[in-house]
Amino acid sequence: MLVVMKMEATPSEVEAVVRKVEDRGLKAHPIPGAQRTAIGITGNLGVVEPAAIQSLDGVLEVIQVSHPYKLVSREFCPDDTIVDVGEVQIGGRDLVLIAGPCSVESYEQTLNVARKVKAAGAQILRGGAYKPRTSPYSFQGLGIEALKILDRVRNETGLPVVSEALDIDVLDEVADYSDMVQIGARNMQNYTLLRRAGRCGKPILLKRGMNATLTELMLAAEYVLDQGNGQVVLCERGIRTFADHSRNTLDVTLIPAIEEISHLPVIADPSHACGQRGKVLPLSRAAIAAGADGLMIEVHDAPEEALSDGLQALLPEEFSELVEQVAMLAPVVQRGLPAFAGRG
Ligand code: PEP
Ligand code: MN
Repeated sequence: MLVVMKMEATPSEVEAVVRKVEDRGLKAHPIPGAQRTAIGITGNLGVVEPAAIQSLDGVLEVIQVSHPYKLVSREFCPDDTIVDVGEVQIGGRDLVLIAGPCSVESYEQTLNVARKVKAAGAQILRGGAYKPRTSPYSFQGLGIEALKILDRVRNETGLPVVSEALDIDVLDEVADYSDMVQIGARNMQNYTLLRRAGRCGKPILLKRGMNATLTELMLAAEYVLDQGNGQVVLCERGIRTFADHSRNTLDVTLIPAIEEISHLPVIADPSHACGQRGKVLPLSRAAIAAGADGLMIEVHDAPEEALSDGLQALLPEEFSELVEQVAMLAPVVQRGLPAFAGRG
């Protein structure tokens, strides 16, 4: 339910609505707007009759929200959310490029890739410390050592970093060392982890599960917002379909669908969507054309030696080409790419 207050409603009238809602065992989320305040109502331990709220002073309208997600919806918050990752803003007019290796493998490898992607125009460095691998015999990541490497590379390059928290045991550690915490596709419905992510004090990059619907993704994000963390970026990273020519299928339809129903930014990860180096560039163009707020791209300077996801990693020079093409496309979709300095 959403309570819209009259333009002239006083703070004490807003407070009276909040009290009434909380007396009924529910949570009230005042959302101050340019014109008037709205109050979102969430919770699962009580009920409140719309008529009991409608009759309070200062209330303009009580709206029943038909879908199950609330705080992530545009109804609750019409203005786009801007997510701050260090000095970088995701969700504004400018596109954001996140790039780096699938896994942090060494200080030299990470620093080398970080310098090259920064020079090409990336604003955020990615690098896995804890890797969700299908096989227990595949490289699982360097763990805390990788986080310390990312920390050093951030100091060296100035790039903020994003890294995945694989479970609740490592979430605080990842949050301490990173500027943004990634929740991976396989964990999109790990509700304990999502709740903890909502309390970790860092922005969250929430990847869509490979078989999750839009509603399920929205509800996963709702878990994070419900814990008080509104700094969430959604990521389309490809879903499972019958297609066998591609690792996954990039669902570009998700991007405008999110834009319509949610105020949260959405980026695309074409690397995991296709799994093949040669398809990353065309899918990047498609995602930007569909309205994505940015891209996350895997880059490695020796992909054939990469300890994970080498087949889909771009070489640094291929990443430069991608940035150049995204820069050309940006004005077509009324976006900017200020970090791209151009060639020469
Ligand atoms: C990754 O970003 O390296 C990763 C494992 O992504 P996903 O969770 O989308 O598979
Ligand atoms: Mn990967």
